[in-house]
Amino acid sequence: MAGRLLLRTWTTATLRLRSNVVARPLQRAMASGGGIPTDEEQATGLERRALQALKQGKDPYSMLKPKSYAGTKEDPHIVPCIGTKRMVGCLCEEDNTAIVWFWLHEGDAQRCPSCGSHYKLVHHELPH
Ligand SMILES: [Zn+2]
Repeated sequence: MAGRLLLRTWTTATLRLRSNVVARPLQRAMASGGGIPTDEEQATGLERRALQALKQGKDPYSMLKPKSYAGTKEDPHIVPCIGTKRMVGCLCEEDNTAIVWFWLHEGDAQRCPSCGSHYKLVHHELPH
């Protein structure tokens, strides 16, 4: 009796699973209209993830040009970091040939020791 019940349950579940697999239409989005597939349709792996993130307005791989900041206390230069500190190089004036390097730590905005521009470390999560 119990064996029949188990067999019936297994058979019903198996048939239901098979019918789901067979009943599903195949996903064919790529060039299904006969045209040339777009970049989004062709992209796979990391490129696909990057394109999806860009579509949402995110830039997880820093592919876009960095935003410009005034460097004041109210609008400091934002420095993304995965840790708690990062080495920053400040080109204090446009024509300078020497870069002033200093450590930027997590917390409040810090100033460049030479020109006084403000920098703030912001935690950045890696996408993978
Ligand atoms: Zn500076």
